[in-house]
Amino acid sequence: MNIKAIGGSNDVSDVFDLYDLRVKVVASEKPMVCDHQVGEYFDVIGEMIVFPEGGRNSFTLYPLAAILPLLPAKQRITNKNDWMTTDAVVACPDPHCGGRFHIARIATRSFSHAETTVVPLPGDSDETNESVLTDAHSTTD
Ligand SMILES: [Zn+2]
Repeated sequence: MNIKAIGGSNDVSDVFDLYDLRVKVVASEKPMVCDHQVGEYFDVIGEMIVFPEGGRNSFTLYPLAAILPLLPAKQRITNKNDWMTTDAVVACPDPHCGGRFHIARIATRSFSHAETTVVPLPGDSDETNESVLTDAHSTTD
């Protein structure tokens, strides 16, 4: 049987939750030398980076490169003792710049596994997932 309850609380649900994030420019003790403006921000909702309406719709490249690897981890529920849970400020990678970027978890949002990937959940009667993992494993040996 391949019936899935979306949003239900039983064992066949394929729903998972992610945090919506807000990445906002904050000041530090040093002046900012890049084109950062205190208070400007973007949101991360699922796989989308969303700029605010009426706000600036651009963001400096080098800080974005530093922030991006952290965003998928910050979107996920983490252990309360994990530094990923408590630490929220990223520094601009320019050593002369005082720009800081605060990553806030602003809400949770539910997603359906089936609507976000074609890879089946474990236990679904499909061999695609296993064969992909086997192929990936064999290339690293
Ligand atoms: Zn900077």
